[in-house]
Amino acid sequence: MRHAAVLTLACALSSSVAAQGPVTKYVRYSHGGATSYGILEGDQIRELRGDLFATPSPTGRSVKLGDVRLLAPCQPAKVIAVGLNYQSHLGTRAPAAYPGLFAKFPTSIVATGDDIVLPADAKNTHYEGELVIVIGRRASKVSVSDAKAYVFGVTAGNDVSERDWQRDDLQWFRAKASDTFGPLGPAIVTGLNYDDLLLQTRLNGEVVQSERTKDLIFNVAKIVSYVSQYVTLEPGDVIYTGTPQTTRQIKSGDVVEVEVEGVGVLRNRVTQAR
Ligand code: MG
Repeated sequence: MRHAAVLTLACALSSSVAAQGPVTKYVRYSHGGATSYGILEGDQIRELRGDLFATPSPTGRSVKLGDVRLLAPCQPAKVIAVGLNYQSHLGTRAPAAYPGLFAKFPTSIVATGDDIVLPADAKNTHYEGELVIVIGRRASKVSVSDAKAYVFGVTAGNDVSERDWQRDDLQWFRAKASDTFGPLGPAIVTGLNYDDLLLQTRLNGEVVQSERTKDLIFNVAKIVSYVSQYVTLEPGDVIYTGTPQTTRQIKSGDVVEVEVEGVGVLRNRVTQAR
């Protein structure tokens, strides 16, 4: 009894930095020709029935993580992103007075394990490791103080960006939203203190970005409130929150990993179309 109590306390202490409630990891996966949501616990997935954003119920079935193909953890109607949201990425530039928004397309999203396929004429494409917000309830014109109630959870994302097109094109349409330019996953996690999680990006195993989300210039609540003043957010919509520090070019054969503390590792190989 006493041993169990000590263990419980140890677990509570070890997760106190990152967690603010019960932490649940939701994954979407393909198994035996069917697509399902489930709760990931260790190497087991407890299958759920129904829509993740409408109180799904357990089916009672479990599958091994190793026996499924993980899919992107949601299918957003809208993929929104914030630019220039860490001072470490801005460098000497002054932060903006309000979040700088742009759009990606749902067709840019791929799952962990999928390839980032650079278009044949892409010559200067970079990774951008980011914390991603997943909306849980319809949100229109919500206040900063209410905004967290509309957040379902968070995941990891890679806001893949072709820098030459970003600089030269009329809009960031192909620079930011080409097919496969939005890796997302591996899980949507609830109960984390997403205002202070470690975000790391690794390129071929080398840590190339490492910063905590407490350094976001506009935090999750401010971003959700701001976006909702203009656009109605729906369950499953996602918002990439911005990348820290510097970025580097990625090339065919590279492997990019984005890890958000408590969420897991989003891992994608890079290829280039001919
Ligand atoms: Mg970005």
